Amino acid sequence: MSDISLLSVKDLKVHFMMDEGVVKAVDGVTFDVNAGQVFGIVGESGCGKSVTMKAVLRIVEPPGKIVSGEIMLRRAKQNGANDAEVIDLVKLNASSAQMRSIRGAEIALIPQEPMSSFSPVHTVGDQIIEAIMLHQAVDKREARKIALQMFKDVGIPMPEQRLDEYSWQLSGGLRQRAIIAMALSCNPRLLIADEPTTAVDVTTQAQVLRLLRRLQEQRNAAIIFITHDLGVIAQMADYVMVMYLGLVMEQGPVDDIFHSPKHPYTQALLRSIPSIESEPRVNLPTISGSIPHPFNKPKGCPFHPRCEKAMPGKCDANTPILQSVGEKQFVSCFLYQS
Ligand code: SF4
Repeated sequence: MSDISLLSVKDLKVHFMMDEGVVKAVDGVTFDVNAGQVFGIVGESGCGKSVTMKAVLRIVEPPGKIVSGEIMLRRAKQNGANDAEVIDLVKLNASSAQMRSIRGAEIALIPQEPMSSFSPVHTVGDQIIEAIMLHQAVDKREARKIALQMFKDVGIPMPEQRLDEYSWQLSGGLRQRAIIAMALSCNPRLLIADEPTTAVDVTTQAQVLRLLRRLQEQRNAAIIFITHDLGVIAQMADYVMVMYLGLVMEQGPVDDIFHSPKHPYTQALLRSIPSIESEPRVNLPTISGSIPHPFNKPKGCPFHPRCEKAMPGKCDANTPILQSVGEKQFVSCFLYQS
């Protein structure tokens, strides 16, 4: 795995200007993804993980808007150049030709729900062939060969026949494999998987996760893996970022986060996972309270109304910043700041 950042996001803010007020869905997020790394983003619904990735792909829908920050992408070396170009995606027009060529060819998305990602009136093969021809200088015959090879790589049985079927003719597991084939068909260096196993059963989930890991290792692609499921993170990720209310609570290597979590929110999330050692019929611990309404974010640390260790006068008055608590572990909490 390389330590050179492929994607470097700095102080990213994405706000939604609603009639009722401003929703700060992402409010100052900083992270780096290295080549060949599986980077997990975890958090409850509404924590800003999907909006962060939509910002990276520049597909945030109005009234959402990137209000500040940088999204630096190290592009593949172009035509014999000595150095790879680094560009700030925030500065590109979201619908420009350059941004369209980056989406799909350099950064690809595996969405939550493959059914709505394929058109029901065209075969899956035609849609994948069209995507290949959009990003690569190949004719239809060559594009079909690439699509066929991708179907074989992701383990779709009878791939010739499946290419000519419609998405609604495929089972949930095959649809998920077909969307992975489409995402990988242009050899992206960064794959964003947004809860990619939400719509499939647990057996298919295990198969899809193994497939993604194998393909990532074979191609040395980086994956940003978005999920609310810490079990999936433990299985997939090298590095983890925990988000809450649009902010980063903690980030670090997966072993550090699981064996030595620092932030009270991370600790509470980990306590709520069932373990093989859990007492039968004993309720799992839960996090008290609920996520505040986005228009009503608490002042100070966003987690303080639910935090067992909150310090009155400090946590409800000021917002902690992300600081190092180890070689590669960072936490945003006053318990670790003097
Ligand atoms: Fe809890 Fe305070 Fe740390 Fe926030 S800053 S997580 S409220 S102890």
